[in-house]
Amino acid sequence: MPYNSIEKAAAAYDVVVIGSGLGGLTSANRLARAGHRVLLLEHHHRLGGLATWFKRQGHIFDVSLHGFPYGMRKTCRKYWNRAIMDSIIQLKNIVFDNPQFHLTTTFDKNDFSEILETRFQVPRSRILDFFNTVDGMNFYDDRSMTTRELFETFFPGRSDVHRLLMEPITYANGSNLDDPAITYGIVFSNFMNKGVFTFSGGTDRLIGMMTEELENNGVTICTRSLVKRIVIDNGKVRGVEVDGRFIAAKTVVSNAGILNTVEDLAGIDAFSEEFRESLKPVVVNNSSCQVYMGVKEGETIEDIGDLLFTSSSPQFDAEEMLDRNTKSRTFSLYYPKTRPGHDRYTIVASMNARYEDWASLSSEEYSREKQLMIERCLIHLEQYLPGIRDKCDWLEAATPKTFQRYTLHTRGTSFGTKFEGLEVSRNIFKDVKGLFHVGSVGIIMSGWLGAINYGVIVANDADAYLRS
Ligand SMILES: Cc1cc2nc3c(=O)[nH]c(=O)nc-3n(C[C@H](O)[C@H](O)[C@H](O)COP(=O)(O)OP(=O)(O)OC[C@H]3O[C@@H](n4cnc5c(N)ncnc54)[C@H](O)[C@@H]3O)c2cc1C
Repeated sequence: MPYNSIEKAAAAYDVVVIGSGLGGLTSANRLARAGHRVLLLEHHHRLGGLATWFKRQGHIFDVSLHGFPYGMRKTCRKYWNRAIMDSIIQLKNIVFDNPQFHLTTTFDKNDFSEILETRFQVPRSRILDFFNTVDGMNFYDDRSMTTRELFETFFPGRSDVHRLLMEPITYANGSNLDDPAITYGIVFSNFMNKGVFTFSGGTDRLIGMMTEELENNGVTICTRSLVKRIVIDNGKVRGVEVDGRFIAAKTVVSNAGILNTVEDLAGIDAFSEEFRESLKPVVVNNSSCQVYMGVKEGETIEDIGDLLFTSSSPQFDAEEMLDRNTKSRTFSLYYPKTRPGHDRYTIVASMNARYEDWASLSSEEYSREKQLMIERCLIHLEQYLPGIRDKCDWLEAATPKTFQRYTLHTRGTSFGTKFEGLEVSRNIFKDVKGLFHVGSVGIIMSGWLGAINYGVIVANDADAYLRS
């Protein structure tokens, strides 16, 4: 089991990994498997970062298990283990309900093509061209085209089609029509491959299985261990300071936010002028609000779909989706089938949100606004599940302040940084020897799949450095 503090850790390791989000966990696992001595430090009492859950009165609420692409299966088999891969199952009923259309889909290329042709009357050749274009997008492509321009090229003036294509991705990674089209294309194609998937048994089961794998590979894990500083001397990493102790390490992989890593943990003075310049355009992504609803023991709810993208806003509008009073939200429904052996129903409403809108409130306003948000979610959900209010015995809300508190991320960002952050994250080790960053950056490296895949890439870099 993980140590509850840093006390039992040794004095020196090959690698210290700061933070146990899916990126940090994956890097730690890969590096330990490659034969390095790895220490994993997490400030929270449990591992997983945003891939987390909490328990209330018999309910288990998943925070970020709403759906991920099929690619998770291959990634988990290759970089974790087969048992983890085997627990990945499809969510088949994805519902859209808004003033422009109401439909249910499996959210894959075949079904979307069918819907675009029959419901939206888009010619088949246009649909094929669009899919061929987004499928062919890769990281090295021209980044000047925005998603708005991409949509206007293929579906000019079709705000309904734009909404179908964009709204789920805006929830999935905070991107909007003005972000580079490749960030859209890569993430959208991942989902279109085979649809939306989840982890049977919930986030707690996944993180438990990952913890077991880390221990089998010899990673020393310490929770409740807040790293205060990455110690750098002469442009080279020497170790970390944590709870008044210095732990020596040749390499540090930071899974803290990229801005937290550079500004708070390493200190900006450790970096070259050129690197500091590259940091200036980096913008953190938006944050989230959630309302958690627990259905009383013994009560049931009808199966109305797994994931409901609902809105009463007339058109897709990323700014409207960020508003504290947004009319757009995703409902994730967790039936007993997704948690075999646990006979309870829970519902989580997720909204995009701006940190500033919540951080600027007094404590009375903050409590009141949280209550109002819960109320708005209940009213909205009653349209799909009449009487749900009376069936719930637990209601709770999270805001950007909650996400900030638990992950320490700048402005409680849910999806790391916008595109510019990726280059900074990739270049950090070129500026300070032995310092690596892993975690949500550049939109494409966020989400469960993006974070795990990035964890592998960064582990390979760190491994090469340690061997050089
Ligand atoms: C509300 C919400 C819903 C989401 N839904 C989905 C979804 O359905 N599907 C999907 O694929 N993705 C989803 N995501 C995104 C996904 O959860 C994240 O992109 C991913 O989990 C981030 O992993 P990460 O490696 O970047 O690290 P994070 O999860 O951000 O973790 C970073 C870790 O570092 C730790 N840390 C930071 N500083 C220190 C320090 N100084 N010392 C010690 N520890 C430190 C933090 O405590 C944290 O544990 C969602 C996110 C949110 C917020």
